[in-house]
Amino acid sequence: MQAMVLSRLAPIETRPLKLTSIDRPAINGRNRLLLEIEACGVCRSNLHLIEGDWKKYGSPSSLPVVPGHEVVGTVIKIGDGVKKIKAGERVGIQPLFSSCLECEYCKAGRENLCENAEITGETVQGGYAEYICANEEFVTPIPDSIDSEHAAPLFCPGITAYKAVKASEPAAGRSVGIFGIGGVGHLAIQIAKMHGARVVAASRTKKHLDLAERMGADNTIVFQDSQERFLKNLKKEEGLLDSAIVFAPSDKAIDAAVKSVKKGGIIVMGVLGNVTNFPTFEEKIVKGSVIGTRKDMADLVRLASDSGLKVVIEKRRLAEANEVLAKLKKSQVEARAVLVP
Ligand SMILES: [Zn+2]
Ligand SMILES: [Zn+2]
Repeated sequence: MQAMVLSRLAPIETRPLKLTSIDRPAINGRNRLLLEIEACGVCRSNLHLIEGDWKKYGSPSSLPVVPGHEVVGTVIKIGDGVKKIKAGERVGIQPLFSSCLECEYCKAGRENLCENAEITGETVQGGYAEYICANEEFVTPIPDSIDSEHAAPLFCPGITAYKAVKASEPAAGRSVGIFGIGGVGHLAIQIAKMHGARVVAASRTKKHLDLAERMGADNTIVFQDSQERFLKNLKKEEGLLDSAIVFAPSDKAIDAAVKSVKKGGIIVMGVLGNVTNFPTFEEKIVKGSVIGTRKDMADLVRLASDSGLKVVIEKRRLAEANEVLAKLKKSQVEARAVLVP
């Protein structure tokens, strides 16, 4: 099969992903499935992995690796022990490829926190390829109402948005600020609106603020270099917020989010970053959020199908992965790019 293979960590401008012919994965376990891939989303995390930003976290676990962790395909073969999924079904794979199902987190239904998880496209082969092997317990069937290209982003930005929005405790009469509009943010806006919250979007570029408006944000405020100006505009137009969610990979955005919420308000961190000068006496709450559980995934797919959640995509060929990632690095992708083999 054809796959975009990463053999050395390097800046994306040097085109480190090479279109290579490699063996099709074998079904390597009784509860495994073989999928013919129809779409795979391109994530900022893929960029971090490829450029070596996550070497310090032990990712990728080895090289060469095939990145890609928001994958949709049709099951073409199943292992002997597979019970829940049939050949011919269309399913999606999220970054959580599998977990141990035995540790305290897995037993408590928080398998996204498992200490022994496998991560798609990092510790096992990912979706920048024509075929992929998956684990029956960790795939989610996709209803006919959603096509594969629009389904793929549900499996990383979608679930990330879904869980982070829930953590922000949205409700009618409450306001939520979303810092960073793109693959994750454009979905978070819509999900927060479904909860009845007032949504304020903050981003650096007009293109992304326009997208936020199209997705139903009640207000959009540009956030560039001057935090002071941003906070002044926010206070004038909205007052302080009940909660804020940060998807922009920037300590400045995190700091602005902390300052944007009322005393006792909630800040949800959907990115890695630093909270500095935390105002302890204001009793604000900072929560971390990482992808989601299998239940979150199934709930989101149902929600997307029932509600007509808009997933904004641009379709690209698998071989274009380097160019797409370079565009993403320059904030030139509007929402989500999706690779099709
Ligand atoms: Zn991702
Ligand atoms: Zn576990």
